[in-house]
Amino acid sequence: MQNRRMPPDTVDSAAHPARGSREVAVLGAGIVGAMVAGALLRDGHRVTLIDPGEPGGEQAASFGNGAWISPASVVPMSMPGLWKKLPGYLSDRSGPLVIRWTALPGLLSWLLRFWWAGCSVARVENTARALSALLCDAPERHLRAAAQAGVAGWVVQRGLLYLYPDRAAFAAEALSWRLRQDNGVAAREWEGAALHALVPDVDPRYELGLMVTSGAHCLDPGAYVAALVRQAQAGGARLLRARALGFAFGPGPQGERLTAVRTEAGDVSCERAVICAGIASAGLARQAGDRIPLASERGYHVVWPDAPVHLGLPVMPSDGKMALTPTNGGLRVAGQVELAAVSAPPDWRRADLLTRFARQMFPALGPGHRPDQAPAGPATSRSENSAAAETAPASRWMGHRPSTPDGLPVIGPSAEHPDIIHAFGHGHVGLAAAPATAELVADLLAGRTPAIDPEPYRVDRF
Ligand SMILES: Cc1cc2nc3c(=O)[nH]c(=O)nc-3n(C[C@H](O)[C@H](O)[C@H](O)COP(=O)(O)OP(=O)(O)OC[C@H]3O[C@@H](n4cnc5c(N)ncnc54)[C@H](O)[C@@H]3O)c2cc1C
Repeated sequence: MQNRRMPPDTVDSAAHPARGSREVAVLGAGIVGAMVAGALLRDGHRVTLIDPGEPGGEQAASFGNGAWISPASVVPMSMPGLWKKLPGYLSDRSGPLVIRWTALPGLLSWLLRFWWAGCSVARVENTARALSALLCDAPERHLRAAAQAGVAGWVVQRGLLYLYPDRAAFAAEALSWRLRQDNGVAAREWEGAALHALVPDVDPRYELGLMVTSGAHCLDPGAYVAALVRQAQAGGARLLRARALGFAFGPGPQGERLTAVRTEAGDVSCERAVICAGIASAGLARQAGDRIPLASERGYHVVWPDAPVHLGLPVMPSDGKMALTPTNGGLRVAGQVELAAVSAPPDWRRADLLTRFARQMFPALGPGHRPDQAPAGPATSRSENSAAAETAPASRWMGHRPSTPDGLPVIGPSAEHPDIIHAFGHGHVGLAAAPATAELVADLLAGRTPAIDPEPYRVDRF
């Protein structure tokens, strides 16, 4: 990645020292906020992490994701030709992507931008390049972070396996693999008997696998966030369990300066604030004067704690578009994209689809294992399947991917109030991209020339 000199308006680097000692409020303690807090502490800043929820708790996307830390996740959701499939997504309720009719009017402008972002190969090449800058060394960054937080074994690098029924299905994704290859992602082919020796319980209809050997995964994403936050607290960060509501400003030599973050527990004095509140970030950014198009791509997971399946590494089937990941809690099956209002109740039929597909992939997940029979729980909460407890208690979850229409996060100073830095909108790649995001935020806040070019993530690109 080429280094760029920072635009002069980003951070007042001349006025402030390169190393820390600022009061910084970090809004949100998901994976992004936890990583940002760590990076700012390393720079010597005084950090207050503000979150109404438990760090890494079920309210956060960081709790329930697919746990993939993949340099190969450079392929945006919006790709050339996707638009033609939209009518199908509106009518087929059993596919990997659905749009709730009731949400459609509110989503029209987001969808238009989404289409535009993927309407040409050149556009998706640019997006892939920008994602790669955040993802290329994500496994190494996470391995280091986990070791430093005292949970070294929770991030493991065993590769990530993309599964195809045949070569024709693989060929249908030629552009995706070309984008990965262009960005230095190496993949090794596994076929036939060798593939089934690698993943012995997978249905025989899968004949081809592409293994991204550098890929890693996290064995417990929620607990990992909690460990990172504990480490930040041990390093001097304060954790305030309260909702951030907005900002207070006072006069400064060159215009208004940030003086505090307003929270439901009172004002928190600070000189800088970083917004990393996941799907809630757009509302906070608006308080800072920035209108960012952010939609919830809702996703679901189901977990089999004692799955009778041997799976040494995470897999993703081309015909299901879901992550099946071995975790400390059991086999986690995560996926689905449901475009719906943030406040809409979960549609647990989406979780049932994951269950059904997982059973097709792994016949050993027989009828004795029924996460789809778990009673409906409140939104974003787990529900134990007590009725089937004698066989396999299971859990399910729904959460919000904070997604921009162009598939890139928003990382950089507010256009209106540069004391406020945005670090949100990571959509499908927030776990993987969090460490590089944190480094970029720390560079911007310190006034250093960032190692990662901030241009593609600018706030004012919309
Ligand atoms: C089903 C699914 C599968 C996924 N799979 C993967 C994957 O395999 N790999 C990957 O890299 N990514 C994956 N993702 C995406 C990833 O989980 C997200 O991009 C990432 O977790 C976003 O992290 P975050 O810290 O920005 O937001 P969150 O994790 O949502 O955290 C935001 C935090 O902000 C807090 N908050 C909310 N409002 C306020 C407020 N007003 N004040 C203060 N705090 C507030 C919340 O309580 C929460 O703790 C997946 C997502 C889903 C849903």
